[in-house]
Amino acid sequence: MRTGATFAYSRQKFRMVGQAQHEEKRVSTERIEGLAAVLTAVRNSEGMTQPRLTQHVGLGRSVVAQRVAELESAGLITDDGYGPSTGGRAPRRLRIRAEAGYVVGVDITAQRLVVGVADLAGTLLAQLEEVVDVADGPDAVLTTAERLIDDHLESIGRIARVWAIGIGVPGPVEFRTGQPVAPPIMPGWDRYPVRDRLAQRYGAPAWLDNDVNLLALAELRTNPAASAARNMLYMRADVGVGAGLVVKGELYRGANGSAGDIGHVAIPEGGDAICRCGNTGCLEAVAGGAALAREGRMLADTRQSPALAATLAETGTVRPLDVTLAAEKGDPAARALLQRSAHLLGGMLATLVSFYNPNLLVIGGGIVRARAHVLAAIREAIYRRSLPLATQDLRIEMSSLPDDLGGVTGAVHLALDEVFSPGRLARWLDAGSPAGQPYIATDDMLERPA
Ligand SMILES: [Zn+2]
Repeated sequence: MRTGATFAYSRQKFRMVGQAQHEEKRVSTERIEGLAAVLTAVRNSEGMTQPRLTQHVGLGRSVVAQRVAELESAGLITDDGYGPSTGGRAPRRLRIRAEAGYVVGVDITAQRLVVGVADLAGTLLAQLEEVVDVADGPDAVLTTAERLIDDHLESIGRIARVWAIGIGVPGPVEFRTGQPVAPPIMPGWDRYPVRDRLAQRYGAPAWLDNDVNLLALAELRTNPAASAARNMLYMRADVGVGAGLVVKGELYRGANGSAGDIGHVAIPEGGDAICRCGNTGCLEAVAGGAALAREGRMLADTRQSPALAATLAETGTVRPLDVTLAAEKGDPAARALLQRSAHLLGGMLATLVSFYNPNLLVIGGGIVRARAHVLAAIREAIYRRSLPLATQDLRIEMSSLPDDLGGVTGAVHLALDEVFSPGRLARWLDAGSPAGQPYIATDDMLERPA
């Protein structure tokens, strides 16, 4: 009896302790989520005030006041003057304390490396660019990237305050592990621990993503139409063709990180055009920059395009940009070539619009330069082949982000979004900063060093 009673008592006690722990965990989860929501709202809109925050994050006034006070004492947000009064005392405007730390963005493209350092508001303070060949492999390219980062940090003079690093590469990335997986144009990079290498070197959490996702993220964070749209499809058409998806204001990567990788989908018009991925008939192989260069060269060789023939005679080559320049001079063959590319891209976009029903489609990459010759054809293909309901609220625009800064801007915002997300914030808030804690980028707490 006695033993039984004790046992029953212990079980009840255990249950009570369990409930208390559960309650404590729930409260702390709510607290962190509230802190992250307030922080995100302050980060993403200028001149945020406490009354607006209350509407924005859907928490009560006193809870918002508490979270704001907590973030202020943690040194993450601060006063930024007073907002407009709505009758009573003018509300304080809040801003992220941008100067509290730095984030590093690294944009690796096929032929170019851009490294930028930004403050915690995502404002680029400086960027350096260098020509690289991604085919030289990860060690050569990342050694160059590290040299540029070191130069930057030295010029700023605050090496210890790197809070986070975002990196983009021109190939498929497994987001969870921060590794490229079987990237078609990046020999030697398959499963290379890009994220972990930079995280360890700078003692800061790092994240790796593919370049198109980062362009979509840059668009989302810098284009007011994109942040208002919530459901955005971003397509980059350049040498590579790919898409990035934003769902309800957040980048959607799919199960493994490859969502939006549409460049290597076979299309009926693809025929036997050989693609750099090794397959034939890919969208990229017939509508991307390589196709423009190849077909443009053919038009020059056969003299169907006098403008491109002149370019070839002068420079010995035909680049995608030369096709656009020839079209601008009124060359009919070059115009027809751009129209064909636009038609093929538009066909793919019609499928994506039907599948996903975005309210904003942004087109970026080298194609932006050819806007006058492609936008109407892309629109036409989308509207002709999509259901009216799918396009009734659809806005289509060309990206206005500068070509050389889009990737690095996205990389910086990747680092900021991740480091301020509820799950990560919970892991560093008590320490005051994520600097010196590279392991918080990984999902597995066990990887934390003793
Ligand atoms: Zn392909």
